[in-house]
Amino acid sequence: MAKTSKNEGASEAARRALEAATAKKAAEKTKVQHTYTQVGQQSTNKEELLAITRANARPYRIAAIVLWAVAIVFELLAILIFFHKIEFKFTTENPGWTIAWLVLLVLDLACVIVASRLWVKSNHLDPASAANKTKFWIHNNLGVILSVFAFLPFIILILTNKEADKKSKTIAAIAGAVALVVAGLSSVDYNPISQEEMLEAADIDTVFWTASGTVFHAYDDCSHLNHTVELLTGTSTTAIEAGKTRLCKTCEARALREAEEGGAAADSQEPEQTQDTTAATP
Ligand SMILES: [Zn+2]
Repeated sequence: MAKTSKNEGASEAARRALEAATAKKAAEKTKVQHTYTQVGQQSTNKEELLAITRANARPYRIAAIVLWAVAIVFELLAILIFFHKIEFKFTTENPGWTIAWLVLLVLDLACVIVASRLWVKSNHLDPASAANKTKFWIHNNLGVILSVFAFLPFIILILTNKEADKKSKTIAAIAGAVALVVAGLSSVDYNPISQEEMLEAADIDTVFWTASGTVFHAYDDCSHLNHTVELLTGTSTTAIEAGKTRLCKTCEARALREAEEGGAAADSQEPEQTQDTTAATP
């Protein structure tokens, strides 16, 4: 019996050693070999930098405003069709009327959602100043405000109309309310950034970013960069010019942690150096 338990103990240790080796191999595998492309900084002061971010955001702002206008047009058409101000071949009893205004309402919703996402993107490329709280709120919640404009008039006009029959009024009001809620929720910027926050991050010498990402990183071995081979590198001002307006949260936490550790013990900071052996027992 004693022999068996000893064997079991030995195989258990072997199994654990094998597991550790496999985990180490897997960890090494996820470490990507990056390639770096150095990007030059264009701006030399705050005004120049803000001019570049404004220019970066402009196409998105214009597209958002155009789409919001189109959404309002769809809403007006939906109202006109609901009240039969636009003549189709449909009769009043024909459900084609319902389908027509419902389709317009869906088009209205689609435009509002896309416009809001473009607006959020433009705000991330060119954040508004938080100096004026009201202005900052309106700027970041313009999508929510315009969602109200895109659906509330439709709902109010339908509910206050005396001529339309009760059933189609109820359907229209519910459809309008659902569209309003969906549009409003999808227009919220859950992670807004202010111009001040952006400028605060604009003084780091060497940072890294990817072509498709939305943030820049202080460390090229950040876990968020594990799946990207091609990295762009430059100053954080250059990253902002490239549309990456904020520092990655993981890198920020790590920088703070390292600064704290550096303050406590300056020499015990090199994790590569401490090659502690996994086989502790002889
Ligand atoms: Zn990072």
